[in-house]
Amino acid sequence: MNLLELPIVRRARLQEVLGDGRVRCNLCERRCIIHDGGRGFCKTRINVGGELYTLVYGDINAISENPIEKGG
Ligand code: SF4
Repeated sequence: MNLLELPIVRRARLQEVLGDGRVRCNLCERRCIIHDGGRGFCKTRINVGGELYTLVYGDINAISENPIEKGG
């Protein structure tokens, strides 16, 4: 199966094309420069053919308990 066809893979926002197949990810302060075929420090963003894709689209990033009835 083609990686880009998976439902959790989407073209990433906040990317900056640098040329020579390199892309800068501007999602967090690390500002990774990622070569074609490479992944960022977080391993969740991948450069495919000079375009950045996220590998975790729609994944839950936090979960917490929230009781229906709360004491006052
Ligand atoms: S690839 Fe990951 S670690 Fe690197 S800047 Fe983007 S979000 Fe941050």
